Amino acid sequence: MAARRVGVLALQGSYRRHAETCARLGASVIEVRTPADLAEVDALVLPGGESTTMSRLLDTSGLREPVAARLAEGMAAFGTCAGMILLAEDVADGRADQRSFGAIDLGVRRNAYGRQLDSFVAELDVTGLDGGPFHGVFIRAPMVERVGPGVTVLASHDDRPVLLRSGTVAVAAFHPELAHDDRVHDWFLQEVC
Ligand code: GLN
Repeated sequence: MAARRVGVLALQGSYRRHAETCARLGASVIEVRTPADLAEVDALVLPGGESTTMSRLLDTSGLREPVAARLAEGMAAFGTCAGMILLAEDVADGRADQRSFGAIDLGVRRNAYGRQLDSFVAELDVTGLDGGPFHGVFIRAPMVERVGPGVTVLASHDDRPVLLRSGTVAVAAFHPELAHDDRVHDWFLQEVC
């Protein structure tokens, strides 16, 4: 993996911590803001933030079509929180003009954990991750409501999947970049990419 060039979509949201984590793990990291940046990378992390804003910026930056094309070719991708919304097939409670890539066969509902649980933390047992539970930081997280047949659930919280994978696409409802624990990124770089 060490030679891989990992892009972090840097249009909006919590991309810096993703970039720092991937760099710490030995990846060569490129912040992706233009189609030319995208052409330099082998994999793409789509961070948390605001999916409606990111969707709009994907259009204005000219990245929408190239990202869709790379995903269709099998580029590895890791979407966290808003990034998960952007990679999902179906999005409920989205804004009418927001669009997703449909790169993983999931149905997600935006902000579905409710007002009381707007933000919370939960210790997650992640399949295949040694070293004990992973500290899951959830911030206005999307809830997974439908899991397609080819999708593997790696962690759940209250019976809802929160970390999933289908082929070269992984998604998390939480923010692994805020956990002070690099194991989920390491898994993405080693196992998914
Ligand atoms: N609620 C945000 C959205 O719909 C996601 C929140 C997050 O990424 N922390 O895009």
